[in-house]
Amino acid sequence: MPAPEVAVIGGGIAGCATAAFLAEAGATVRLYEREAIAAGASGRNSGILQHPMDPVLEPLYRGSLALYAELGHGFAFPPEPGGALVVSDDPVALAADREHAAARFPALAPEWLQDGALEAAEPALAPGLCAYRLATGRPVPPAAATQAWAKRARAAGAEVRIGRSAAVARRDGRAVGVVTGDGDAEPAGAVVAAAGPWTPAALGAGRQWRPILPVWGVVAQVRLAAPPRHSLEETGVEALTSPGGAGAPIFSIVTAGGVSAVGSTFTRERPDAEAVAPRLLERAARFVPALAGVAIDSVRACARPLSEDGRPLLGPVPGVNGLHLVTGHGAWGITLGPESARRVATGVLGADAGIPPELAAARFGPP
Ligand SMILES: Cc1cc2nc3c(=O)[nH]c(=O)nc-3n(C[C@H](O)[C@H](O)[C@H](O)COP(=O)(O)OP(=O)(O)OC[C@H]3O[C@@H](n4cnc5c(N)ncnc54)[C@H](O)[C@@H]3O)c2cc1C
Repeated sequence: MPAPEVAVIGGGIAGCATAAFLAEAGATVRLYEREAIAAGASGRNSGILQHPMDPVLEPLYRGSLALYAELGHGFAFPPEPGGALVVSDDPVALAADREHAAARFPALAPEWLQDGALEAAEPALAPGLCAYRLATGRPVPPAAATQAWAKRARAAGAEVRIGRSAAVARRDGRAVGVVTGDGDAEPAGAVVAAAGPWTPAALGAGRQWRPILPVWGVVAQVRLAAPPRHSLEETGVEALTSPGGAGAPIFSIVTAGGVSAVGSTFTRERPDAEAVAPRLLERAARFVPALAGVAIDSVRACARPLSEDGRPLLGPVPGVNGLHLVTGHGAWGITLGPESARRVATGVLGADAGIPPELAAARFGPP
């Protein structure tokens, strides 16, 4: 078969990694990004590669770690996990949470820490808290992974068009290319939509097809003289990033390259990041006292592309031949995106992609 011509919509982690795999396999690839590489959540996240708490997602996690280890192009893969602490001031609720995690994911070896043991393990935490430590968590600067995948795509010959929005062009039940924001029709043999929470719009989907919704998060960046040794996360993130998730802010802090990202919020509407950030820090100081009154370096808001069932949408779209999705990774797209992209690219090239039904885009029907 001749190598296909593929249009990829979206320059986040999903689109850039897919473009890299397709181009390396010999496809002619054009990637359309309306703003800049990593302009969305892929450049504004908290920056941790972390084991998912959903067994269905574990193969994507393992595959992505292997891909990160050999990514290159300026990406520094932390060889060992630094450890993630789930923290709370409610020992009874947290103990139940720990037991649940231990039963489902024994490999994460959730270790209970309290009082002196917690103080020794994580001196940055306030007294009176308890925690369990998971053997996971590799901090990386927020945009580093996506920038490296974009470089790798370019190195393999993909054409990256910045400042170009694109929508899928369809004819007779087939994706035949894209129409750009300038109104140019650019043909392609296949289209991959990786436009994050804006994917339904890029598909021209009807109002009733909304399996991916934005869940907005604010992150404040600070520099601490003695940042936490672990990544820290208040218990409850799972519920907020699962189906229907959205609600009150939840504390988290991840430090990479001397910069700490303090998060985060979970709202359906775009927040006023500058107004929210001081409140986030005030709350975070209850967990890490050194955050009280610290100067904010920068603030960012971005939208998690959260799917209806909390799992990504991968592969062919029913009813539109030649149209594929890589989206819906919610709170864990940096962690899981590369293996999702590899599988979708494999399917675009006509081979068995190994996408289980629980992750297939087809489960939500035609757009
Ligand atoms: C506060 C916060 C913290 C997070 N922390 C982590 C974390 O620690 N670890 C982790 O693994 N994940 C984390 N995530 C989740 C992760 O950031 C996302 O799942 C991931 O970045 C989504 O990548 P994507 O490529 O699917 O979408 P996006 O990054 O949203 O990329 C989509 C791109 O498509 C472009 N686009 C949209 N429409 C069009 C169009 N019509 N034409 C052309 N271009 C278009 C956009 O400009 C954008 O650049 C976090 C998310 C948030 C919000």
